[in-house]
Amino acid sequence: MTSEKKDIRSLSKEELRAFFESIGDKPFRGNQVYEWLWNKGIHKFEDMTNISKETRAHLEAHYVINHIKVDSLQRSSDGTVKNAVKLHDGLIVESVLIPTKKRTTACVSSQVGCSLDCKFCATSRLKRMRNLNPDEIYDQVVAIDQESRLYHDKPLSNIVFMGMGEPLMNYKNVLESIEKITSEEGLGMSPKRITVSTSGVPKMIKKLADDGVKFHLAVSLHSAIQATREQIMPFAKSFTLTDLKESLEYWYEKTNRKVTYEYIVWDGINDTTEAIEALVTFCKYIPCKVNIIEYNPIDDGEFQQAPNTAIDAYINTLERYKIPVTVRRSRGKDIDAACGQLANKS
Ligand code: SAH
Repeated sequence: MTSEKKDIRSLSKEELRAFFESIGDKPFRGNQVYEWLWNKGIHKFEDMTNISKETRAHLEAHYVINHIKVDSLQRSSDGTVKNAVKLHDGLIVESVLIPTKKRTTACVSSQVGCSLDCKFCATSRLKRMRNLNPDEIYDQVVAIDQESRLYHDKPLSNIVFMGMGEPLMNYKNVLESIEKITSEEGLGMSPKRITVSTSGVPKMIKKLADDGVKFHLAVSLHSAIQATREQIMPFAKSFTLTDLKESLEYWYEKTNRKVTYEYIVWDGINDTTEAIEALVTFCKYIPCKVNIIEYNPIDDGEFQQAPNTAIDAYINTLERYKIPVTVRRSRGKDIDAACGQLANKS
């Protein structure tokens, strides 16, 4: 009978130290192993060259080292790279490398599928299979960093949690992955270069504020009118705009940091003066910036990007009220790597 061995990367540094203490070794070995697993990213126990042979055998008897594998890779004409990543249990998620002149950004997934039901997002059609573990999120970043060095000759500069899944519905693992990405024994990246994007889970936004996180927060707003938001993001019936507003006020009170509202303008849905005015009102609650994102069609044509005149109406009004607004162009559309297109088509 084979009993399933535990993934050693699910242990914290403290747990590794305790493990060594329990077998009569120095707790410091735990730090060494931790560094091998995270900073050096080794895949085999035998590569831990400063750990004795017996200890390595002992570790191997108790644990496995799970790693993701890049199953397939697609490169777009604009330099965007999409990875289909195979997890240890065979499930697949996608992550994307987005290069621009100034930065190279990794867009990572936090769940296999998604439990939310945003009508305009391809991922919402995949049932949520499970949450990603911290190491599975971390490994996506490592893979993209390597691709960034290989194809664009520079390391990764930014990370956005805008791939598959709702990061705040996998709260603990997402925060643990960020802890490892930012720690010196991990990738040593600044949290200022990380953005977590949420569809808007009020309770969890408050928890982020309580936990004193240092990364940026982006909220996929898309409409500041309750009835419209419910129509395009049905879960908003439970997570209402009133609760969202309250949680964002709490966030600002505790962190003193502004949030970004992501916003798509669709034909016949939110291209009205009333919708623009509602957004302006929402933007007055706390300091913020609006990021208008281009809609990436997902097959069925139910949603259509509004014409430029409608987008200009948003921009002009927001600017009149001195609300910072930027427009984000899509990247990697030719390989279905753009926002909302991640759905494991292959
Ligand atoms: N669940 C999180 C993160 C994943 S979605 C969230 O909702 O924020 C990342 C971003 O892509 C969100 O702003 C989302 O609204 C946007 N998005 C989803 N489908 C899209 C589509 N078809 N075209 C453009 N952006 C889309």
